[in-house]
Amino acid sequence: MTHTSEPVALPGGRAEWTKCPGCDALIYHKRLDRNLWVCPECDHHVRMGARARIELLVDPDSFREAELDPVMPDPLAFSDSRPYRDRLAAANANSRESEAVIVGAALLGGREVVLAVMEFSFMGGSMGLEVGRRVSEAAELALRERKPLIVVCASGGARMQEGVFSLLQMARTAVAFARLREAGVLSVCVLTDPTYGGVSASFASLGSVVIAERGAHVGFAGPRVVQETIRAALPVDFQAAESQLLHGLVDRVENRADLRSLLIRLADLHAGESSTTGADPVPEPAATRSTGSPAMRDSWEVVQAARSVDRPTTADYLRLAFDDFVELHGDRSFADDPAVVGGVASLAGRSVVVIGSQKGHTVKELVAHNFGMAHPEGYRKAVRLMEHAEMFGMPVVTFVDTPGAHPGPDAEERGQSIAIAEAIMRSSRLRVPVVAVITGEGGSGGALALCTSDRLLVLENAFLSVISPEGCAAILWRSASSAPAAARALQLGAPHLLHSGIATSVVPEPVGGAQADPAACARTLREVIVRELEELNDVSPADLLSGRQERFSRLGGAALMTPLTTEIAS
Ligand SMILES: [Zn+2]
Repeated sequence: MTHTSEPVALPGGRAEWTKCPGCDALIYHKRLDRNLWVCPECDHHVRMGARARIELLVDPDSFREAELDPVMPDPLAFSDSRPYRDRLAAANANSRESEAVIVGAALLGGREVVLAVMEFSFMGGSMGLEVGRRVSEAAELALRERKPLIVVCASGGARMQEGVFSLLQMARTAVAFARLREAGVLSVCVLTDPTYGGVSASFASLGSVVIAERGAHVGFAGPRVVQETIRAALPVDFQAAESQLLHGLVDRVENRADLRSLLIRLADLHAGESSTTGADPVPEPAATRSTGSPAMRDSWEVVQAARSVDRPTTADYLRLAFDDFVELHGDRSFADDPAVVGGVASLAGRSVVVIGSQKGHTVKELVAHNFGMAHPEGYRKAVRLMEHAEMFGMPVVTFVDTPGAHPGPDAEERGQSIAIAEAIMRSSRLRVPVVAVITGEGGSGGALALCTSDRLLVLENAFLSVISPEGCAAILWRSASSAPAAARALQLGAPHLLHSGIATSVVPEPVGGAQADPAACARTLREVIVRELEELNDVSPADLLSGRQERFSRLGGAALMTPLTTEIAS
């Protein structure tokens, strides 16, 4: 069913050696064990049993296994060449486990979590009634006690011997995970090698965060089935974790050695402890808040400054202005768009979701991030992360610096307009505070997708425009060389945005611009964002929604006509 195989036990006096399934190297057991069963020669992650996995992940000696009534369901009294009951008994004897999943509670970095860890050696980790029951009950326990649920998946799929009862466990577990989402309780699914079929197509894909272990193979249909169907060679990385990441299907791919620390950070970031104890004091409103008139600058100079490749990017601000950041990738349906970066961050004691356009400083970086021009999957990632924020009651902070949405046939075919429209609509109705910062270029609809907010901050050398000055010049002046004239006619720059009521404040930049001192600019930005979030913290969701709507309807002056009515004047 999968590409990888179990390590080969070598006969005759060489039992302390294991042959790596990745590179065939003979590795001394103790060395492999010390290296967490990751091949020191080729980095192949050898499959791990559930008990070893628990030991690897949780605080030492903290795991308490749930006491479960012994159940061995055999609803069909199934028998092939052997009765199912005999197979269960054999699996039990071989694995020394009572079923294909172990559930319990443990401490993770000192925090209580609920754990469900699958044991692949028990009938291929297949899901029947008992696995479905245990996973669902673990989710119910996490829900009742509002503790994070960590599920480590390893499964070939549904258990045939329990017939359609197995199939329905997909629904049972999905309901349990839906309830966790509705309640804003964190669930993290770690997909290990292999995770397939009914497990992959139910709870394994429904965690609020889904992490694939490096080298794991994950999919619905196994590669053999797919190959027999299409009768063509499959790519070597078919269904590999790294390919899942590229296709936007998992949040992250993680090395085994880094899993524990990542889970601890995720649990901390989603703990819902919004107290600012131990954090920076909230800064007094100071000179950073430009409610007065920011200095008028030539619009074309602003455009050029905003486009400087030395300006800090979203990744720079994440590093310089935030205390922690776990990037979450992908739109969970097509791809991970490198032009949009996002995830969960910590800012002065508060967890926030950050979403931003990402450019780069070098040609290589710019190309890798498509010059900050997002495809539809970038906006769909943004929407997914906005919903993540709403689920956990976290404010959203966006950073906008894009020449515009990617113009191309691929983007059009995948619904660029729809993706942008959905992002604008979704952010306009989020029941959590949204603070948007235009840090550089705010190019048209592709920028506005991340600007619909309660507060719109604009850096001194940033702008928002309906069209690029070059595009405007080409259409109206019939010459791209008239871009400076177009920039001035469009009044590009922070002062116009503030005076027109579109921006709520202008953030001053260091002398020479943000690019002259990124750290200083990030410090100022941090102060301003912390203050804005503090102010928005006490605003009710209903007031956030009505406030946003009101802000947009006020633009451009008072209503020019009496409100529309369906009554016909008599
Ligand atoms: Zn190897």
